[in-house]
Amino acid sequence: MSSEIAIVGAGLAGSEAAWQAAVRGVKVDLFDMKPLKFSPAHKNNNFAELVCSNSFRSDDYMHNAVGLLHEEMRRADSLVMSVADETKVPAGGALAVDRELFAQKITEKLAAHKNINIISKEIQTLGELDYPLIIIATGPLTAQNLALDIQKSTSHSALAFYDAIAPVVYKESIDFSKAWYQSRYDKGEMKDYINCPLSKEEYEAFIKALLDAEKAEFHDFENDAYFDGCLPIEVMAERGIETLRFGPMKPVGLTNPHSNEKPYAVVQLRQDNLQDTLRNIVGFQTKLKYSAQKRVFSLIPGLQNAEFARFGGIHKNTFIKSPILLDNFLRLKSNPKLMFAGQITGCEGYVESAAVGFLAGVFSGFFASNKTPVLPPRATAFASMLAHLSNTQNIDSYQPMNINFGLFQPLEPIITAQGKQKHLKGLQKKEAYAKRALLSLEGWLKDLHNAFSTNG
Ligand SMILES: Cc1cc2nc3c(=O)[nH]c(=O)nc-3n(C[C@H](O)[C@H](O)[C@H](O)COP(=O)(O)OP(=O)(O)OC[C@H]3O[C@@H](n4cnc5c(N)ncnc54)[C@H](O)[C@@H]3O)c2cc1C
Repeated sequence: MSSEIAIVGAGLAGSEAAWQAAVRGVKVDLFDMKPLKFSPAHKNNNFAELVCSNSFRSDDYMHNAVGLLHEEMRRADSLVMSVADETKVPAGGALAVDRELFAQKITEKLAAHKNINIISKEIQTLGELDYPLIIIATGPLTAQNLALDIQKSTSHSALAFYDAIAPVVYKESIDFSKAWYQSRYDKGEMKDYINCPLSKEEYEAFIKALLDAEKAEFHDFENDAYFDGCLPIEVMAERGIETLRFGPMKPVGLTNPHSNEKPYAVVQLRQDNLQDTLRNIVGFQTKLKYSAQKRVFSLIPGLQNAEFARFGGIHKNTFIKSPILLDNFLRLKSNPKLMFAGQITGCEGYVESAAVGFLAGVFSGFFASNKTPVLPPRATAFASMLAHLSNTQNIDSYQPMNINFGLFQPLEPIITAQGKQKHLKGLQKKEAYAKRALLSLEGWLKDLHNAFSTNG
């Protein structure tokens, strides 16, 4: 078989991408270094291995962004979702699977497809692959030689080996009776930063809580994480009570308009997405456990009721700066025959990686058959994930992210019987996102069906 596409990595993304390309009539060579070599987290000979939890998180598609992504993938005939449904185990409102059976069934289906040729090989350089189209889906633990070669082919600063994630909160959950908009020394636009002030007592209580809080452990292979990333705030705090006040919490160049005073310390939040529904806490990368982050960061005036779209973290995580490197169809702008999929693009999570693999597989089907590709509508969870991968806001601190409603296109206000504008909140808002997404998905699925109706 002479194949039209090489897919490197048969994890969540590569397996889904191979399937979507194959069912669209494209001949695929699917490479994985397993079982000849394993990353430090992979152990199973089979593909689509879940390296940690066996959960795909919430399955509630009317109220949860990842649940909505599940549902869109189901309706779009995702391999990962159909096998997840086949192998699911009881887990309340979450979708959890028997991980052994899940990986085994995915591997069997891929191996049985007439358009898929599986090759056990570690790809060391991109130059080894002579194909019209290549999808790199080697994940957060991409083997080192290939990662270095990708870095060489993109640019040094466009590939990271660790994430250093600061928490992100929904802007609407910030209390503006305490917080205010201002840039230091009034440089830049006023709305660039939201400031949360701390008095001396509040600052000292915050530092104490930070030092006492429970930290997540590093894996053995992550011990040198600090060398590459920025220091976690709790490590800065260990260096002395004033360290944070001279670092990310420095109060200079700001006046609190609620009190007309200079704050003793300040926490700043920077815009995280174009719609400005999400704000990241500047300089607050952390290894605190998620429950501790919620508790400790809620001590910050203005964030007492903050809802977190993403918690902070530091992990071994190989990813590229997709927003500057890739086009809308996941192709390298400087070499469009090279596509990327899965967590290496800067999505985060099993489901998100599979979803980006799904999109790469579908797009590759268009390219391999010289058809004009069609993007999913912006209202969908699929497109919202792509929106993160093309978000040039804060490009210097681009970090992997889970799907969340903050990435969705904001809803239009509804007009009440009295002619007033009303912004939906809470469950109603989530339901409106879900209904809009699933409605707009239908048209895209029809386009896909029409484009590939004669393939098999
Ligand atoms: C330690 C750890 C724990 C995680 N826990 C969770 C969790 O609990 N829940 C969650 O939702 N997400 C978790 N993630 C994040 C992420 O969702 C998963 O890593 C997910 O599997 C990523 O999917 P992927 O397809 O991009 O990569 P992977 O699933 O990692 O697949 C990559 C594949 O590429 C292969 N490969 C790598 N380099 C080469 C090469 N040079 N040549 C050939 N093959 C190669 C690997 O063998 C692997 O099979 C975790 C990540 C890590 C690192």
